[in-house]
Amino acid sequence: MMKKTSFRTRKSSLYDKNSLEPFKISRSKFFNFLSCQRCFYLDRVIGLKEISSPPYTLNNTVDELLKKEFDYYRKKKIPHPIMLKNKLNFIPYNNENLDTWRNSLTGGIAFHDEKTNLIIHGGIDDLWLDLDNKKIIVVDYKAQSSSYSVSASTYLDSEWRLSYKIQMDVYVFILRKMKFEVSDTTYFYVCNAEKKGDKFDNKIDFEVSLIPYKVNINWIEKKIVEMKEILNRNEIPEININCEKCAYLKGGSSFF
Ligand code: SF4
Repeated sequence: MMKKTSFRTRKSSLYDKNSLEPFKISRSKFFNFLSCQRCFYLDRVIGLKEISSPPYTLNNTVDELLKKEFDYYRKKKIPHPIMLKNKLNFIPYNNENLDTWRNSLTGGIAFHDEKTNLIIHGGIDDLWLDLDNKKIIVVDYKAQSSSYSVSASTYLDSEWRLSYKIQMDVYVFILRKMKFEVSDTTYFYVCNAEKKGDKFDNKIDFEVSLIPYKVNINWIEKKIVEMKEILNRNEIPEININCEKCAYLKGGSSFF
């Protein structure tokens, strides 16, 4: 028998098709919908909590320090060295709402889709400004450790990095809905922890690479409508037959 703690109790995280209140969907929940409608439905409509995982404290630390570092250049209105190195006529973008936009827990960037009455939101890492065309550039920090150098031609090829591309597509989509002029080109600021040293010595060196990604937002509106249709369904959707987790869970859950 499944324990009650496996279910959500906060009313605002559960979808109620009779409610007139806009329902919030984060960028990551939207990705869950794209990956498996069943898991998404179990979470948002039935209230089954996802299995929790330990927090990515090292990645979060890199993110926090990078935010502080870019804020230094933002305050001075001068380019960060990575922009100069890549010959980009950019500076960090300044906006009084930036801290709110960077925190998904306080709403992040958000757009109310009146057609579906869904609010799509997400927390960005950073925004830069292209001084040539005055467009905003969406930037996401990524910390990782790989023995292979990060390369712009292969970085986004892995299947599991599809979520990175979707993340950027959605951020640009939301910011444009918020009426900002946003560039099609976004950047991943990738910090790769090197393993070359002979010992730890209380430090890790990082190699930093800037990986451009050109967004495609044409698919998003249609998927938001489909997501709303799924939320309104009375039956739990089918499983994603490609998912390893479902095969594992099959015996143990009363939902299967
Ligand atoms: S196939 Fe099953 S476990 Fe996998 S994502 Fe869907 S519902 Fe979840």
